[in-house]
This record gives sequence, structure tokens and C-alpha cells, in this order.
Amino acid sequence: MQQAVDFKGFTRIRRVAAIAVNTHGGRAKCLQRLIRLDFPVPETVALSFDAVHRIADGQMTDVDTLLGIFGTKPLLSVRPSSEDPDWGGPGAMLNVGMNDARHAELTQSHGAEAADGLYLRFVQSYSVHVARLDPDMFEFDKDATTAAALKTALAAYMDETDEPFPQEPAVQLAEVLRSMARAWEGTTARLLRQAKGAPAEAGLGLVVQAMALGVGPGESGAGVMQLVDEVSGAPLIKGRYLRQAQGRDAMAAGAQTQVMFLTRDKRGSSLEADCPEIFAELVRISKLCRVKLREEMQIEFTIENGKLALIDAVRVQRSARAALHVAVDLARDNIIPKSEAVTRIAPRSLTELLHPQIDPRGSRSLITTGIAASPGGASGKAVFTSAAAQASAARGEPCILVRRETAPEDIRGMHSAAGVLTERGGMSSHAAVIARGIGVPCVVGASEISISMRGHAFTTARGVTIKEGEIITLDGTTGQVLAGEADMLAPALDDHFVELMDWADSFRDIGVRANADTPKDAATARNFSAEGIGLCRTEHMFFDGDRLTVMREMIFAKAPADRAEALSRLLPMQRADFIELFQIMQGLPVCIRLFDPPLHEFLPHDRAGLRELAEALDLPLSDVTRRVEYLSEFNPMLGMRGVRLGITIPEIYDMQARAIFEATIEASTQRGGEAVVPEIMVPLISAKREVELVKTRIDAVAAAVRNETGKQFTYRLGVMVETPRAALRAGDIAANAAFLSFGTNDLTQMTYGLSRDDAGRFMNTYVQQGVYPEDPFHVLDVEGVGELLAIGAERGRARHPGVTLSVCGEHGGNPESIAFCRAHGFDYVSCSPYRVPVARLAAAQLAI
Ligand code: PEP
Ligand code: MG
Repeated sequence: MQQAVDFKGFTRIRRVAAIAVNTHGGRAKCLQRLIRLDFPVPETVALSFDAVHRIADGQMTDVDTLLGIFGTKPLLSVRPSSEDPDWGGPGAMLNVGMNDARHAELTQSHGAEAADGLYLRFVQSYSVHVARLDPDMFEFDKDATTAAALKTALAAYMDETDEPFPQEPAVQLAEVLRSMARAWEGTTARLLRQAKGAPAEAGLGLVVQAMALGVGPGESGAGVMQLVDEVSGAPLIKGRYLRQAQGRDAMAAGAQTQVMFLTRDKRGSSLEADCPEIFAELVRISKLCRVKLREEMQIEFTIENGKLALIDAVRVQRSARAALHVAVDLARDNIIPKSEAVTRIAPRSLTELLHPQIDPRGSRSLITTGIAASPGGASGKAVFTSAAAQASAARGEPCILVRRETAPEDIRGMHSAAGVLTERGGMSSHAAVIARGIGVPCVVGASEISISMRGHAFTTARGVTIKEGEIITLDGTTGQVLAGEADMLAPALDDHFVELMDWADSFRDIGVRANADTPKDAATARNFSAEGIGLCRTEHMFFDGDRLTVMREMIFAKAPADRAEALSRLLPMQRADFIELFQIMQGLPVCIRLFDPPLHEFLPHDRAGLRELAEALDLPLSDVTRRVEYLSEFNPMLGMRGVRLGITIPEIYDMQARAIFEATIEASTQRGGEAVVPEIMVPLISAKREVELVKTRIDAVAAAVRNETGKQFTYRLGVMVETPRAALRAGDIAANAAFLSFGTNDLTQMTYGLSRDDAGRFMNTYVQQGVYPEDPFHVLDVEGVGELLAIGAERGRARHPGVTLSVCGEHGGNPESIAFCRAHGFDYVSCSPYRVPVARLAAAQLAI
């Protein structure tokens, strides 16, 4: 056992004392600022991280000298002061120094009730937190008098420890300091703060302050005040005050009748009305705090016999929308520069503002959880098929589409649903990608549910069964699934949001485009100020009603002439799609990816669907079944898709190219002759020759269209780098490409040999066990996939210096991945429309 050694290690907080956040913690520094502002802060002493560490180690500060600073017989509070308040720390201890003698004196000066209350509070917290006695023994019924409770508490202490309650203030203080110092070093506290981002060696400071009592004669009490609403961010005076109270009692008291709201309420009593001068002083202090501390603070105050004391000030805890309002308002008021407002907002928190959000104040009846795949909250009736989702939408009833996993034919159902829940899948599975693209809240990989498609119901591991038509709520921001309907907060795209994003754009130096497949996506992308479309997945245009039938006719065509006929019917539809996209994007670049998925995705998979198709095509069922079987592949994601399809059935790309060029001519005419320059992107390239073959055909289509129409236009042809070989051979490939767009979804899938549609099943285990630091479909794997990106970018640029480089996989909207792209000189990132603001802000922060 180490010998106790007295050392100092404390500093009286004065205007000039050396107090720093990284030596004494945020609370000590903040109190020094309040003292410098001449606010009525009681005498305060700060113990440094080093001192607290030594105390935890068995040494002890010179408590007699420390006590001496506070005059005779002080009552003290001790509170934690960590570097970042979010890292937590032991709870405050109040009324240190209370003993029998002080109790007798205070009974005379402040009355028995007040004196009993002060002593009881100290005995309770000392017994539980310092002596570590059973808390139940120090809990008392509401109807027990304070005097009786005090007597019982002192007796319980004696019973449990065989010693009377310590009477010596120096002993009390030393024990309180020791217990708080040790609590910080405990394993649970350490793990908790590390989970909040604290470094392993994070220190704790302690603040010892003279108590302002808040109980006793005259106007006495304690409360808090702030100048902003913590949920909406709206400026308003807000607070609570409780008579005959200490510390943060007013907050805990809730709606008890004693609570006095700071502004007049219906009962007619308020601090403002009863003590106008104190109220005015509190408002003055709060306003000055905002300006001088450059932050919205909640001040904590005590009134002792009509005299105001400022005990503390803490940053107002706030919602994402309040944080944005506060930052913009501080910059508008010239309290902080615009660049600082931009850096104060966590990019990911913006997603909360773009979607309806489950009101955090409401109760939640959790039934299961999955992967939070697309943010926002949605409530609706559970439905189990896309047809039911569409029917529900037609009736105007919000619904949640529940599927094992989604397939391309579910897109219309997903569009119709308020939210999507799948049992399988991960961050880049079909459901997740589509839901993020269309801004529908989505939870995937909810592997604890079991769906009965026949019974139209699902059951959770907790044994809750949800039948079709019953209302559930999804929280796509947290991955929670709740029973029943939840209260929602509306999206907050207000002037504050727009202004912050404008400031962000003025700092940003990497482009941000959107992945947009439909006119609705494109409009959303424009709304969020995307600088163009970086990926239009054209296959999504073929799943709609009539088109699906024509598409199937094309797939079933026996002779080239039949195929040409079907394609000629698809051509005007595609042309109209592209004209609309060009119109919406108003001259901004639009990058159109040629057809990518395997053909069988367009075919029915069950008997009923096959029969329907046979009828529609007027073919025998056996023919249709045979053809579908022929088209099915063992491993379709590595099979005949992307450019492989383009080379094998070139007529499809020919039709798409023609539609793009004809739309280009039309859109240029509509823009008064201003040139529209489309970008055409070829998917799944792995060899230079693939690019050459496709380029030759597309150039030929362009020449034919120019010839037929007599109109001139240009276009840019580029490729997607989404196979490892394309990254390695990017030099060869870039020779024929105006741009290289890295499709990091497929590239991640192929680099790891990890199916993007199945990884959800084990991803949690893998991340928990540290096999992967994060889900690589979510955060770019910088070490592996990142190396391929770096190699591809370098080789592509070396061969073709003017080549445009971008990322259009899901990672394009991820702040860490954007940092990687920026560091490697990429020109832009492209992400789902709803992530465009996140990407703009993250990119701006990298440049500040
Ligand atoms: C990719 O693979 O990263 C990509 C953008 O294409 P898709 O997600 O459509 O396969
Ligand atoms: Mg891909």
C-alpha cells in the first residue's frame, strides 16, 4: 500500500490562473471564463488531471490548505471536469462539509427543514457513492419526514460501517476526491468513455466550489436557463426554477407544482413576475455567455436568500436540426465565422433533417432491429408484396413493405411504400441502394424476424407477430423496428439549411453529383444542388408496366428482326426518359450508364408469373419456362451482365445510344441551341478490347444520327471501373475513355469475394469481432479496395492526363470515403440524392 503523501495539484480559479481544457478539463475552463466575465460565481478551485490521477493512485492533495481557501466551515460541491463533457464522469457531490455541528448551526439560521435536507442529501450521496453502501438503504418513502429520514440514514451508515458518519470536513473531502478519482479509472467508466471517442489516457479534472445553498429563508432555490429550444433550435428563453432546491433539482422535478416556469404560465407564477431583477440578470448573463463563449449555453444558478450565484454553464444538448440553427444563427450574428459554422455540423447528422424523423420525445415499443440502411422514420401498415404496397398507395394508406429481400421487380412496390423492411441484405443490397436513392426509410438484414409469405405475417425473436395490415414503424436512422405508429418530426429544409449549404459550397474543392435514375430522383438531386448526375442506372427504366412487357418480348425474340422490333418500341420511351432528365438538369452533366443487369432479372420467377408471361407473349408455357431456365445463371452477378451483354447482344446498347443522341438534339433545341453534352458510361469493363468494341458501335450510331438529322453534337464515353482487373489495367482502358467512374459497390464485392446481397447475414459478427473495422460496403476499405482505386487513378491519369475521375458507388456519400477520393485527386463523387448534402458538407470540411 502506498504511503499517502500530501501534494498540492489544485489551482484557485481566478481571471489569470493557468487553467486549460487539456490540463483541468472543460468545466474548469468554462468556470474561469464565467469568472472573467465578472459573473457571480462562488469561489472555485480546480484540480488538474495529473492531481486526480495521483489521488486515484493513492496519494492525497493537501486538503487542509484546499479547505482553507473557502474560509471557515464551508459547504462545498465537487464536480467532474473532463476534457470533453460528453465523455461523462462521476456524478456531482453536494454539501461536502455537512456534519452535526453545521447541522445545528444551519437549523438555527436556515430552519430545521432546510438543515435536515442539506445533511440528508450529503449522507445519502456519501454513503452510496463514497462508502459504496447499498443504495436501497438510503431511499426513503415520500411520506417520511426529512428529519426522520436523516436519522435513519445516519443510523444505517453506522450499522453498515460500524463507524459514525465522518464529521471532519477534511476527511469527507479527501474521501470524496478519492472516490471520484477512482470511479474515473474504473473499467466500466473507461469503456463507456472510449465508446464515445475518448482516448485511453483521457484525464479527469475536479472542480471544488463553495455551495450557494438554495434552501433557507427568503427567495431561495435553484434552476437552469437557456436561450434556445434544444429540439427546434428556435431562439426563446427557456428554463426551470425550483424553490428550496439545489443543483439540477429543478430538472428532475419535472412538472411538479413547485416548478416555476421562467415565463408567465397559466398559474400566474413565474420567476420573471416574482423576482424581475434576478430574472433580468439571468437573461443578461445568458446573452453574454452566448456571445463570449461563442456557443448556446445552459446556465445553472442558485438563489440564496435573494442573492444570485452562477454555478456552472454547459453546452445545450441539442438535436441535429437545433445544432444547425444554432451554428447558422451564431454566424449570422457574427459571433463565429461562417467556416466555423460549417465545421460545427457533423455531415451525417444532416440526414436527420432531410427525412421525417421519429420524435425522440415519444415512447418506443421496439420489436426488432436490423441494419439502418436508409435514414428517416416511417409508419404504415405492414404489407408483404409489391402488389399490396401499390394497392395500399392507391388507397392513400401508408404502408411498410416487408420482404425477405427485394428484387428489381419490387421497385414499384418500394416507390409505393413509406418504408421498406427486409430480413436479409446489407448496406449495399438491392433494397438498401434503391431505398437510399428514392429517400425511403429502410431497415435491412433484420435477421431475427421470420416471414411467412403464405400467412402474410412476420414474427420477431421476441415472439411478437405482425400480420398484414397491422401498423409498424421503421427508424431507418437507427435500424429499429417498432410496433404501432410513432410521432414524427417533419423534414427541416429551411433557410438555415440552405444558407449553411451555400457557405459549405464556397469552401468545397471536390465536385458532388447524384446517382439518379428517374425524373423524381433528378429533381431531388437538383433540389439538393447536385452538380450533375454521376450515375443514371438505365435498367430501372424498364421495370415499369408496359415497358416490362416490351422488354420481355425483346428477351424472348427468336430472330434479330423480332428483337429489333421490340427495341424500336423501347426507343421512344428511352428517348423521352433522357429528354426529361436533360430538361431537369438544365445543362448540368448527365452520365448515363448503359444497361447492366443480367436479363433474367426481367423475367418472372414463379409459376403464376410464367403463366401470365406465356399469355402475354402468346407462347406455350413450356417455351417460356425453357427460355427462363436457359437464361438463369449459377452466379449472375459474375455472369452475362454489363458490357458482356452489350457485346453479345449489341442491339440493346445501340438502341440506348440512339435514344441518348436523339434526346441530346431535342434537349439542345429546347435550350435554344445550347449544347447538351451527354456522358455515356459502360459498366463492368474488365478488358481494353471491350471498350474498343463498344466505342466503335456507339461512334457509328452517333454518325448515323448526325447523318439522319443533319445536327451536330458531341458526347463523352467513359467506363465504370468496378472489376479489380479494370483497376489494374486502367492505363489501357483510359486510352479510350473520357472518364473513369469507380463503381465501388461491385469493386468491393469482387475485391473481397463478398456478395453484396448476402453479406448482411454475417457482417455484424465480422465487425463485432474486428475482422473488418467497418462494413466495407458502407465505408470504403481504404487498405484493399482503396489501393485498387489509387492504382486505377494513377494509371488512368498517367495514360490519359485529362481523364475525369470519380466514385459512384454507395461510398460516394460517405464522409471518410470522400476524404480518400479528395486526397487522390478525384474530380467528383456521386451518391444518392439524399446524401448529396452530406457529401457537400463533408467535402467542405475537408477543404477548411
Ligand atoms: C457499383 O457497382 O459501384 C455501381 C455504382 O453500380 P451498381 O451499384 O449499379 O452495381
Ligand atoms: Mg456495379
